[in-house]
Amino acid sequence: MAELISGKLVSSWKREQIKAQVEELREKHGAVPGLAVILVGSDPASSVYVRNKHRACAEVGIRSIEILMPEETTEAELLEKIRELNDDPAVNGILVQLPLPGHISEEKVINSISAAKDVDAFHPENVGRIVTGGYKFLPCTPAGIITLLDYYKIDVTGKRCVVVGRSNIVGKPMALLLLERNGTVTVCHSRTKNLTDITREADILVVAIGRPNFLGKDAIKPGAVVIDVGINRLPDGSLAGDVDFASAEQVASYITPVPGGVGPMTITTLLQNTVNAFLETV
Ligand code: NDP
Repeated sequence: MAELISGKLVSSWKREQIKAQVEELREKHGAVPGLAVILVGSDPASSVYVRNKHRACAEVGIRSIEILMPEETTEAELLEKIRELNDDPAVNGILVQLPLPGHISEEKVINSISAAKDVDAFHPENVGRIVTGGYKFLPCTPAGIITLLDYYKIDVTGKRCVVVGRSNIVGKPMALLLLERNGTVTVCHSRTKNLTDITREADILVVAIGRPNFLGKDAIKPGAVVIDVGINRLPDGSLAGDVDFASAEQVASYITPVPGGVGPMTITTLLQNTVNAFLETV
């Protein structure tokens, strides 16, 4: 039976450290890091994510600034708001909750955030730095996964790593971070042929596709470390990952549950990135 990788546990351990760090900054500089979170419209899932981010900031003493803009906000108005925040020295991190309404270009919006305040690490400058080295921020979900691997002392060096999913926010940066840790990395996607032949070779398997219970024990090499990024809402309201947990835990050596695995680490990394952005300014 696999050992559980608990994002809940690691996340609360990390948040205690961040809280102490913020308190130290308050004493030393008389100021705390500030994170601005912009939500355009009232998508229920996005509203929950934004609320969770504010709650997490409050928990560790980061000042969070909530900016709610109506659905009909124009692209120009949003870009103007971002310009203001870019110029505001009390704001260290800027996050625009995605997805944006269809009439606003996500690319333009992401590109308009100052790279020094881009705590999501979506700006091309920050993405480029993940490739070439010397990065200031890492994207929250993949970096949170690396923190989990470190906590459980799972060494990546020389391991066969397979990442299923190639999105800009999870799959691609995940592959780069595993490569940086000296893994031998394969990236799979919806056009990959014979997917399970490849996943079965993985010592470390990261699945981020958004398909409930898609991979089970037949897709997993005995003893593999399985990281399930997927968050899928089932018709009965419960949550499922991309991995069939009950089947996979029979063969994996370590596995993340959903919920309580990767999810909590994402916001924790966001908090750390905001503190790091503040540190660049003092
Ligand atoms: P995207 O929809 O942006 O990307 C999905 C990727 O999966 C694509 O690259 C797609 O391939 C690939 N894919 C889809 N179907 C298959 C398939 N049948 N076989 C192989 N590959 C497939 O999703 P995200 O990366 O944003 O998110 C993935 C999952 O992770 C979602 O469930 C999301 O909710 C969750 N998530 C969880 C987070 C957390 O904090 N735990 C944070 C972010 C996301 P192609 O490129 O060819 O279309």
